[in-house]
Amino acid sequence: MTTTVPHWIGGAPTSGSTTEYGPVWNPATGARSARVPLAGAADVDAAVAAATAAFPGWSQSSLSARTRIMFAFRELVAAHADELAEIICDQHGKVLSDARGEVQRGLEVVEFACGIGQLLKGEYSGQVSTGVDTYSFREPLGVVAGITPFNFPAMVPMWMFPVAIACGNTFVLKPSERVPGASVRMAELWKEAGLPDGVFNVVHGGREAVDALLDHPGVAAVSFVGSTPVARQVHRRASEAGKRVQALGGAKNHAVVLPDADLEFAADHLTAAAFGSAGQRCMAVSVAVAVGEAADPLVEILRAKAAAVTVGPGRAEGSDMGPVITADARARIGAAVDGAGRQGAAVVVDGRDLKVPGHDDGFFIGPTLLDRVTAEMDAYRQEVFGPVLAVVRVADVDEAIALINANPYGNGTAIFTSGGEAARRFQREVTVGMIGVNVPIPVPMAYYSFGGWKDSLFGDTHVHGPEGVAFYTRAKVVTSRWPHVSRREAARYDFPTAQ
Ligand code: NAD
Repeated sequence: MTTTVPHWIGGAPTSGSTTEYGPVWNPATGARSARVPLAGAADVDAAVAAATAAFPGWSQSSLSARTRIMFAFRELVAAHADELAEIICDQHGKVLSDARGEVQRGLEVVEFACGIGQLLKGEYSGQVSTGVDTYSFREPLGVVAGITPFNFPAMVPMWMFPVAIACGNTFVLKPSERVPGASVRMAELWKEAGLPDGVFNVVHGGREAVDALLDHPGVAAVSFVGSTPVARQVHRRASEAGKRVQALGGAKNHAVVLPDADLEFAADHLTAAAFGSAGQRCMAVSVAVAVGEAADPLVEILRAKAAAVTVGPGRAEGSDMGPVITADARARIGAAVDGAGRQGAAVVVDGRDLKVPGHDDGFFIGPTLLDRVTAEMDAYRQEVFGPVLAVVRVADVDEAIALINANPYGNGTAIFTSGGEAARRFQREVTVGMIGVNVPIPVPMAYYSFGGWKDSLFGDTHVHGPEGVAFYTRAKVVTSRWPHVSRREAARYDFPTAQ
């Protein structure tokens, strides 16, 4: 019998009303491990109705009550981190230590949201005019939705819902239908933590479920993370429906290596950043920009390091890198490498024919290193989203910056150098949202906000940190006076100014 991953609506698992299901694979074995219901408008409506019913009570609950539940949820996620990591490993394919890392980074957003009492403090200005005071405070929006990608089944949802819920909103999560398990487990943990039913809901599905959320009049705001074409479309459709939207898209992250860098250190970090999680990270380094005479030695060190990566099932001790998400993804990545070779790139390390003994049906493809890639090649222009590192050779740091700024994506970038002047110029001149200096995957901590520029973000607010709190709340500003009966001012017909 196939296991069915349930939706989670109104504090309980439910199979919903649909008769359509999608497969959940174990990418390491290539076997189908479960099926997931693909919600239509009726199931989405049930989830929004549960969230709508829960909103008045939750939004009026005290900050202390909400904080206590956030702390309880934090403890439960920490206690179940290994279990969540195993679910992620089995459905996504990434290695266990990597899965534990994403749970930890998600947990840090929960910890940030535990400080909601501090984060929601308003402003106060006494005596802005004689006898008049002004103050501001922020209120939740209502029912908000999160739509998330396959590559971080726990962390990306946790970029959104801890902050949204702590702010007093109720939440409907539509996780990737390829990795549905972690979201449902987190819903169970919320219930155990004491979250009232209906505050956190999960509906599974694909485009139909997403469109139903985007069009639903009961949804006030949408947070989306996924590929650029879908992010662009989600932003447009939800905006047209009058919602607040933040839609984070795809990436092509460049790491610039200058001749004065410690090349061994740079190559070590580039290898991990390119091939960790089989390159399926929005902050993965997919382009190494080798400056001047750094190129030849860098490619030689990268060749050795890429060839030394241990590829295997995520649960096996010693695996550095697991499979990719589906057989289709493996075929698409292989085709991108074929195309690069045809267009003139040198395939220095070729992972296309990799076999993992005992896992012949797993979706494995090995680390691949391309050299002499140019900006015109498809392998440079497309987001490959697999374990492929492309080396582009440039003459100097100005050419490196121009290359990055001409790229439509602007999620993350890094520079490896021992010189402060180039590093400072780089961080001020690149049109990219998150920058690392000798740090390859510069994912900001939870108390900063995460987000890219250009085609990596549609909307203007990044996730978590202060921008997350701003996104999930709206401000009221109150101007008040309490006139004394003996000093009542007469009304004036000219426009009011401070006196
Ligand atoms: P995806 O765009 O295919 O799917 C993302 C979500 O949208 C899923 O929940 C999916 O069910 C839904 N969806 C898919 N097609 C849709 C459609 N046509 N209409 C409406 N909804 C649709 O992305 P993915 O393959 O799951 O994830 C990988 C992508 O996500 C990569 O491009 C990666 O760079 C990006 N990503 C970006 C960030 C970031 O922070 N910018 C973080 C993680 C992943």
